[in-house]
Amino acid sequence: MMTESKKLNMLRGKKAIIFGVANERSIAWGIAQALHREGADLAFTFVGDAIEKRVRPLAESLGSKIVIPCDAASDQQIVSVFNQLKNIWGEVDIVIHSVAYANKEELKGSFLQTSREGFRLALDISAYSLVAMTREAVPLMKKGGNIITLSYFGAEKVIPHYNVMGVAKAALEACVRTLAVDLGPQNIRVNAISPGPIKTLAAAGISDFKVIGHHVETKAPLRRIVTIEEVGNTALFLCSSLASGITGETIHVDGGYNIIGM
Ligand code: NAD
Repeated sequence: MMTESKKLNMLRGKKAIIFGVANERSIAWGIAQALHREGADLAFTFVGDAIEKRVRPLAESLGSKIVIPCDAASDQQIVSVFNQLKNIWGEVDIVIHSVAYANKEELKGSFLQTSREGFRLALDISAYSLVAMTREAVPLMKKGGNIITLSYFGAEKVIPHYNVMGVAKAALEACVRTLAVDLGPQNIRVNAISPGPIKTLAAAGISDFKVIGHHVETKAPLRRIVTIEEVGNTALFLCSSLASGITGETIHVDGGYNIIGM
């Protein structure tokens, strides 16, 4: 399915903070492995004790000792993450934002029933947190940098049961474009990757996720689901000098599903 990737040390000496590894199936984990393979130093965050237990050994397996708590809904915790990175590294080159959340009851039934609080929570954690993290990262990106977030096709077209998360992803993609304009003069690039459906913890919260996956397998030009390794390699490309002219983009890694009309 994939050609074996050779190590080129494209990110040697780069410092990357990764928000959103929950376990070895997380998209953020695919990204962490790709960045590590090319020589980046990594730091990780977690939310809650259960995820900490999974993230620590994963971080260690990539030689990282920096594992910091961070609830993306808390400005205070986001500030604390970057203060700690300032003390340890002095600078940051890459931020991976692979975080999203909506209450389970908002991801079934009709979008019409979305509560005000459910809407606020989904937009806060899944979109605003990118802005809050970027604001804290910028002073540490003295030589430029890269910010990458994870979106989904539900930002562009209506996907059954994706509901308020589609609205949050649309806001997230607009945040990417707007931040790219703010930060371009400082050579900080901001991009989103929009993967097709992948079986992860977050995906388990979406009703009928299996149906969505099966649909993609039968309709996408590549006739298959993409892997976290493929998303990781795209993040690696975006963080590398190979993508030096790309900012404000949303790149689909979906086997071509988004180009299909019927
Ligand atoms: P995942 O469950 O492995 O990762 C989601 C992460 O978000 C977890 O690590 C979780 O701890 C974190 N998170 C949730 N609430 C948080 C909070 N308040 N503070 C800090 N972290 C919090 O699932 P994933 O599929 O790897 O999701 C990563 C990203 O990829 C999400 O933005 C998701 O919407 C996006 N995405 C996923 C798919 C898919 O099919 N899996 C497709 C397209 C986009």
